[in-house]
Amino acid sequence: MAIGASQISGRGLDKRVRGVVRFNEKLAYHSSLRVGGEARYFVRPEMVEDVKESLSFAEEEGLPWVVMGNGTNILFPDEGYEGVVIQIGSAMREKELDHDRGLLKVQAGESLSRVIHFLHSYGLNDFDFLIGIPGAIGGSLVMNAGIPEGSISELVKRIHALDEQGEPVTLEREDCGFGYRRSVFQQRRLIILAAEFAVGSGREWDIQELLQRRQRQPLGRPSPGCVFKNPPGDYAGRLIEQAGLKGYRIGGAAISSVHANFIVNEGGASAADVLRLIDLVRERVYKEFGIELEMELEIISQGRSRKGRAPEMLLN
Ligand SMILES: Cc1cc2nc3c(=O)[nH]c(=O)nc-3n(C[C@H](O)[C@H](O)[C@H](O)COP(=O)(O)OP(=O)(O)OC[C@H]3O[C@@H](n4cnc5c(N)ncnc54)[C@H](O)[C@@H]3O)c2cc1C
Repeated sequence: MAIGASQISGRGLDKRVRGVVRFNEKLAYHSSLRVGGEARYFVRPEMVEDVKESLSFAEEEGLPWVVMGNGTNILFPDEGYEGVVIQIGSAMREKELDHDRGLLKVQAGESLSRVIHFLHSYGLNDFDFLIGIPGAIGGSLVMNAGIPEGSISELVKRIHALDEQGEPVTLEREDCGFGYRRSVFQQRRLIILAAEFAVGSGREWDIQELLQRRQRQPLGRPSPGCVFKNPPGDYAGRLIEQAGLKGYRIGGAAISSVHANFIVNEGGASAADVLRLIDLVRERVYKEFGIELEMELEIISQGRSRKGRAPEMLLN
């Protein structure tokens, strides 16, 4: 098989890191929205040592780095990322269940869906409410993923991570700053490696009902899920719809006509299209209802992530 440019790694990174190492890798391949330019380096490490090695490499080369999981809540820029993108993904997905103590330990790259299946094989339903959320454990902890009835933080006992220097850090649940789609990991530069969860509560979830809710989402189109957080006591989707924006399109990006809090890639969308649509939504909703929609989607830029400008600035 011929080796494409994206498979040729630079500066010996491929000799230092076990796992996938690519050079000039298109990030759109790794984002559920299918948008984003090339990363100078893209690594999917296999072991903790490989994550550390990726950090050392970035440090030595004077390059920025960013972490991703399954890429289901992330927007990469069209110009790509001039640094190292570290994907804590399918290469790091070990799981260990201590049934007697009701303790599940999972590596951060494991997907929520595989954890759900794993627990089912032991007759445990604790993760069922996360059904249909396409993230990995690490990304889901950063976002405190969930549904109105519960979020992943409720199951967490502690989280194991690396700091920027590659030193191990353990955070107890109360140190994680969890809130609605919020965690301390959105501010602190930590790489989540694994987490421990309390399982065996016996709480039952109606899977059929949960799956039916998913039918009300535009699952046939590339998207990053919900783009905005729901403001207190209301729904971002309702406000966007009321502002008359359902189905509105800029370039290849559109407000979904199925669920107005989803932006979908109708084909050929650029990050610029998506950002213009986001700004337009925030501006219109602010003008109509005086409500500032907060971003749920993580927008990656060279300086890591931005949360969007204030809507009143967009109006000027
Ligand atoms: C169809 C669809 C439906 C969805 N439904 C829901 C839903 O019902 N509820 C919900 O909450 N979300 C939902 N989402 C959004 C998304 O799936 C969740 O936010 C998910 O948990 C993100 O996980 P990820 O692995 O894809 O993270 P990514 O998108 O890869 O990353 C998200 C953030 O976490 C950081 N990050 C990722 N991994 C690590 C790590 N190991 N260490 C440190 N930082 C890390 C990234 O830098 C980024 O800032 C949906 C998305 C889609 C596409």
